[in-house]
Amino acid sequence: MADASPGGAGEPYSHKGLTYPLGRAFPAPGTLTQIAEDIGWARLPVPGSLKHINIWVLEEEGGVVLVDTGLDIPPSREAWEALLAGPLAGKPVTRIICTHFHPDHIGLAGWLAEQFGAALWMTRTEWLFARMLTADIRDEPPAAAFRFWQAAGWSDEAIAAEAAKGWGRFSAVVSPVPVGFVRIRDGDSIRIGARDWRVVVGSGHSPEHACLLDAANGILIAGDQVLPRITSNVSLGLSEPEADPLGDWLASIARLRTLPDSLFVLPSHGEPFTGLHARLDTLDRGHRDRLDALHAFLAAPRRAVDCFGILFGRAIDESSLGLATGEAMSHLRRLEVEGRAVRTVRSGVYWFASHQRA
Ligand SMILES: [Zn+2]
Repeated sequence: MADASPGGAGEPYSHKGLTYPLGRAFPAPGTLTQIAEDIGWARLPVPGSLKHINIWVLEEEGGVVLVDTGLDIPPSREAWEALLAGPLAGKPVTRIICTHFHPDHIGLAGWLAEQFGAALWMTRTEWLFARMLTADIRDEPPAAAFRFWQAAGWSDEAIAAEAAKGWGRFSAVVSPVPVGFVRIRDGDSIRIGARDWRVVVGSGHSPEHACLLDAANGILIAGDQVLPRITSNVSLGLSEPEADPLGDWLASIARLRTLPDSLFVLPSHGEPFTGLHARLDTLDRGHRDRLDALHAFLAAPRRAVDCFGILFGRAIDESSLGLATGEAMSHLRRLEVEGRAVRTVRSGVYWFASHQRA
């Protein structure tokens, strides 16, 4: 259990309308913090600004069910080996549930499934995405990728730099995804030990993201669908360039808002918290404020790359250009779907404006 001594890292505190009952304490790599008698919390390293991902370990007869697995990078494998030889010794992995296909969640699912003969449980779209991306290996990016970058207003230099990174980088940090899976879908109930977890699907960050709700005990395993401090990436991407992921995301926020405010939320990044409604309201307002600011900025025609200052309040360097572009495009596309922006294509570049010009 987290250290609960006064003033310690485990001291409960509140910040921006959320309460963190376990304080700032978190499990060191290779250790497990008990959230409840049958729910363990582990943390694995993730390079870059995310820094970590939280893993949930649910006890059941004969072993443990894992929720999410970490990137397939040496420090994550080492952390798993320490967990399996330490706090999880004698508790075989019976099932693996991945909330969604992103590499920090599914990265070691195949590796763990293979070791234990455990089945992978996921929503169908998320499993298909992971399988598709690991199979899509080619020497250089497809022409559609170049068109996508050009449409967003990238410079020739930025396009060349991105192309030089190659294609199929998903597999570099994801162990082979199992060729079969157990499908879970919205509304399903999954019995694990003494608990029933209801699958609550959200969309916008990924296509069919599964949260797990233990309504009887007031616990929500939220994945990336609700994070306490950072906003989840909501990007328009190459696979569905005419989709409306921000519309999906706002609808998912509204749907999650119907769950009880009292839930103890276990997020994939950051510390467990209460204050679900306050957090959802902040996320919703943040996106709507940015849409309004962007709408005003489109008094003159703009490309996605012109909108970074308005959306992020800072310059975007090469390392975050892809993510920033996806986010900018998802906001521009939402304005277009709402009828608040009109897109004009000139020489392959998308220009968005709040009014059609003669
Ligand atoms: Zn994610």
